[in-house]
Amino acid sequence: MKSISRRNFVNKLGVGLGSAAVLNALPSFIVPPDEALPYEGKKLNIAVCGLGIYGNLVAKALQTSQYCTLAGIVTGTPAKAKEWKAKYNIAEKNIYNYTNFDKILSNKDIDLVYVTLPNSMHKEFTIRAAKAGKHVITEKPMATSVEDCKEMIKACSDAGVQLAVGYRLHYEPHNMEIKRLGQDKVFGPVRLVEASFAYKTYDTSKINETIDFNDHGKWRLNKELAGGGALMDLGIYCIQASRYVQGLEPVAVTAQFGPVNNPKRFEQVEETISWQMEFPGGAIANCTTSYGYFIDRVYASADSGTFELSPAMSYGPLKGKTSKGELDLPIVNHQQAQLDGIGSVILANKKLPAHITGEEGLKDMNIITAIYEAARTGKRVVL
Ligand code: NAD
Repeated sequence: MKSISRRNFVNKLGVGLGSAAVLNALPSFIVPPDEALPYEGKKLNIAVCGLGIYGNLVAKALQTSQYCTLAGIVTGTPAKAKEWKAKYNIAEKNIYNYTNFDKILSNKDIDLVYVTLPNSMHKEFTIRAAKAGKHVITEKPMATSVEDCKEMIKACSDAGVQLAVGYRLHYEPHNMEIKRLGQDKVFGPVRLVEASFAYKTYDTSKINETIDFNDHGKWRLNKELAGGGALMDLGIYCIQASRYVQGLEPVAVTAQFGPVNNPKRFEQVEETISWQMEFPGGAIANCTTSYGYFIDRVYASADSGTFELSPAMSYGPLKGKTSKGELDLPIVNHQQAQLDGIGSVILANKKLPAHITGEEGLKDMNIITAIYEAARTGKRVVL
């Protein structure tokens, strides 16, 4: 097997030569590294909708993006509008709130709306952006139900705009390398994937705290806003990795809710859940996610070798190895890589690759729904 060094990877891209033409011709998962590129064409003008933690990360990445720029904002908080306007030099006419957002229809200076609101709000703002003729990136999970995903896809298709889901790891070299190793059967067919992603989100000594759902970030514990717990937020990455390592769709799932260590905090959504996915040909994926402890790894066992990433799904720097040695791959800024990958395709008037679109989000939501059903009923759910 040929291992790809950072230098080879970059040279292979022609990035060293600074060729935007070469980059545009590349597969969508290959992204320019941080030190890139003298692209000087039109940039995609993005409005960030929802100025929380992730909206801030997207805004930061837009400052160094080659293909996209932060042109507008949508916020329900006047103080944030003022702060962002000054910090990022945003034109007053490109600042919207949740009520007047639809007026973005007549604003030719915005090409795409990036929705970074709580999960259940993705649907409304995706559909409103589509009706205003704007392309959309919506964060993961795409929505909180299969029905909502379908409505979002239809609205974007009816409006003739593109819909992407914020699957940043599809632009991250380590994850795309395990996708290649698995799908190209470099070590033969994959028989087992273990993928776990969990964050410790609370102080375990304060298990009797009272939760105010209006506190910052607490929407993740509110079923209506989040749609579910750790599975919706973090487990979705494990579903993704299990699917892209194999290039296959699961045919059945079983699942178990884990122990609840903090009952007040996890009254509405699960703290921990484990699940198993059966794939055509007999491969199994074993996954766990939780809000109660840390883990961040993907491991794949194939007929003649193994490959793994740890850390695998957080912002990095990610690290990995195969049974033949360490992986030596570029470390990229995930958000910038994703924005450049998506921006360059839309600017070239091309269709986004299926593996990051609304259809992909819908596939994950179907699987999430089946996992919850399996955990609730204790039964194997066929997909
Ligand atoms: P956050 O709580 O930091 O931000 C949410 C924003 O939505 C805030 O600005 C808040 O004011 C606004 N908001 C509007 N109406 C609200 C309401 N009713 N309740 C709560 N907030 C409301 O959350 P976040 O961590 O930025 O997550 C936002 C989205 O981004 C989620 O869908 C999340 O899954 C996704 N996300 C993705 C990644 C990734 O790596 N791709 C990482 C973190 C979060």
